[in-house]
Formats: sequence, C-alpha cells, structure tokens
Amino acid sequence: MEKKIAVIRGDGIGPEIVGEAINVLNKVAEKFGHTFIYDETLMGGCAIDAYGDPFPQVSLDKCLNSDAVLLGAVGGPKWDGVPKEIRPERGLLRMRSSLGLYANIRPTKLFPQMKEACPLKPEISEKGVDFVVVRELVSGVYFGEHRSEQVNGQEKATDIMAYTEEEIRRIAHVAFRLAEKRRKKVCSVDKANVLATSRLWRRVVSEVAESYPNVELSHMYVDNCAMQIIRAPHQFDVIVTENLFGDILSDEASIIGGSIGLIPSASMGSGTLGVYEPIHGSAPDIAGTDTANPIGTILAAAELLRNSFDMLTEAKAIEDAVSRVLDDGCRCGDIMSEGMKQVGCREMGRLICEAI
Ligand code: NAD
Repeated sequence: MEKKIAVIRGDGIGPEIVGEAINVLNKVAEKFGHTFIYDETLMGGCAIDAYGDPFPQVSLDKCLNSDAVLLGAVGGPKWDGVPKEIRPERGLLRMRSSLGLYANIRPTKLFPQMKEACPLKPEISEKGVDFVVVRELVSGVYFGEHRSEQVNGQEKATDIMAYTEEEIRRIAHVAFRLAEKRRKKVCSVDKANVLATSRLWRRVVSEVAESYPNVELSHMYVDNCAMQIIRAPHQFDVIVTENLFGDILSDEASIIGGSIGLIPSASMGSGTLGVYEPIHGSAPDIAGTDTANPIGTILAAAELLRNSFDMLTEAKAIEDAVSRVLDDGCRCGDIMSEGMKQVGCREMGRLICEAI
C-alpha cells in the first residue's frame, strides 16, 4: 500500500519524538512492503513564528490532502504571551474542527512490565488492563451556551449541555466499529437517571447497536464507571461517552498505564482521516536533551496504522516490539526503576525498530 502522512512535529520535544515514530513507521514499511510518503508541515509555536498563525491554511491543506496526520505536541513558554486568538492550542482546536474530528480515542493499556508504576493494587492490575475510551469531542456542555447573569442580587452562571441524535449516532458508530476490531464489547456511559441528554444518548446508542449484532452493548452510569475503572478495569473493552464525562474518565484512565509518556491518542471523524498524537504536551523542560520518552508517539503511529490504514498486523508488530524492549529492561527517564537500563529518546526508538 502507498499512503501519505502529514507530519506535524510541533514544538519542544515534538520534533524528537516524532522523528523516532517516523523511524518506526519506515521499519514497518520495509518489513511489510508499504510506502509511506511524509508531508511535513507546521502547527503551534513554530507556525506562529513562521506565519503569525498557529494553524495556517497551508498546514490545513496538507492535512486534508493526506491519509492521516501524525502530530508531536505544540506550545511552550516562548508563546505564552501571544494574543489569545493565535495561541498554540488555538491551532489544535482549529485543526480538529476544520478536519471534522468529533471522536477522541484514548487507549489505556498496562504493559505487564510497567506494573510497579501502576497505582492500582497488584491483584487488580494483574487481571490485565486494555481498554479504549471513545469520547465525543465537539458537542455537549463545552460547546453549549455559557451564561452569567445577576439574579436576585447574586451572580448566577449557566452552562447548557445539548446533544442531537446525529451527534450521538456518529460517535456510537465509531465505538462499535472499533469494538469489532477488538474484544467486541461496548460500554456506553451516561447519567440517564438524571440527564435528558443521557436518556437520548442511551436510546440512540441502543439503536446503533442493532447494526452490530456481534458486539455486546452494556450501559453504565458515569459515577459507577469512575469507580469501576479503578476497581475492575479488566471488564472494559470500548467505553463510549459524551464530551465532559469522557474528558474526566480518559484522564482517570491515563494514570493506570504508569506515565503520560506511554499513552497515545487519536482524533477521528466520519472518514478514515485521523490525527494521532501522544497525550502529553511539548515538555519544554526536557526539549533537546534526548531524554523524552517516544513510546506514546510510537504507539500513536500504531493507532494510525490500525484506525486509518486498517493495518492491524502492522499495528500489533509495533506494540509487540514496544513490549519486547520493555521486557529487556530498557526504560526512558520517566519510567525508570531500580535494576532497569536507562536509555534516551533516540536509543529507545532504535531499539523498538530493531525489535520489529
Ligand atoms: P507536558 O505534558 O508537556 O509536561 C508535563 C511533565 O511531563 C513535564 O515534567 C515533562 O517533562 C513530562 N513529560 C511530558 N511528556 C514526556 C515524555 N514524552 N517523556 C518524558 N517526560 C515527559 O505538560 P505541561 O508542562 O503542562 O505543558 C507544556 C506545554 O505543552 C504547554 O505549552 C502546554 O500548553 C502544551 N501542551 C500541549 C499539548 C498538545 O500539544 N496536545 C497538550 C498538553 C500541553
């Protein structure tokens, strides 16, 4: 297969970690007989410096003309003082809305080698943790009306949470399609005992489930889900939920893996175009020191192959290679523990390539 990937290295450690992910993709291309064509473009602080705009049209065009986007991270103290309209994170928001990305996919996986770094009790973590949170990204209370007014001499604030059937239907399809490629279980999370949006959510997700008879659907209230993620995470395969609940649950889930340096994230829309990135920021405190952990970005490249290119074997080859390198005791600084061998960003990338 020949595929085009828009590459946004971004700021801080972005260029270092994306460089290692590209080395890994090249290794996969060589082993499995694919051709990946990279189209480099700018976003964030480096785009502000070059264009006075964190996500210029030229960058959007390159993303739209690609099959997938690989992103490092954006931002840093150099751009903290720029006007609000051109802050680096504005670039991220504009990219998501311009590309129609309404689903955020956050895998939570505990590599058995990382179990000492996991905050869960061993009797819980040893049952295995491997689930994905699918979060609706462009609607709900974050995008509803926000109002503040004086009522009877005191300030009253209101945030409106709204969902349409179509907004729920399309995210539900993302979750079910993902579950078909995994263990075929979807848990839909809501607060249907209280919220009207949640009752609509439950009805529409249940309707969508009828098109996926091989996937098992369950429903769970969000407060229970927050507990179950800590108490019995092995029960989950794909969790699908609305924007606010997903924001909180995906951050709760991210600590189970041991370090933010290990976790990838994908943002998708209706087509196969997606943006793949690690969950952490640009880590300006360690930029240029060859100490950043590239594993989150390398696993984001695996998600890119799985979700946008349907290359399931190739994605698994990357994940298995990461696991083997961890088995060999190699660790970056953020996940270093006694008796392990500390390696830098470049060396970690090289070892993963070697293990593929
Ligand atoms: P951060 O995630 O960049 O860093 C938090 C801490 O984790 C730092 O100590 C950092 O050194 C460490 N860390 C992060 N990634 C690491 C890795 N791969 N390997 C080893 N250590 C790692 O969060 P922050 O410091 O709050 O933000 C720094 C900048 O990044 C800010 O400008 C922020 O706006 C931006 N940011 C960007 C994104 C994005 O691009 N999606 C996300 C979050 C923050």
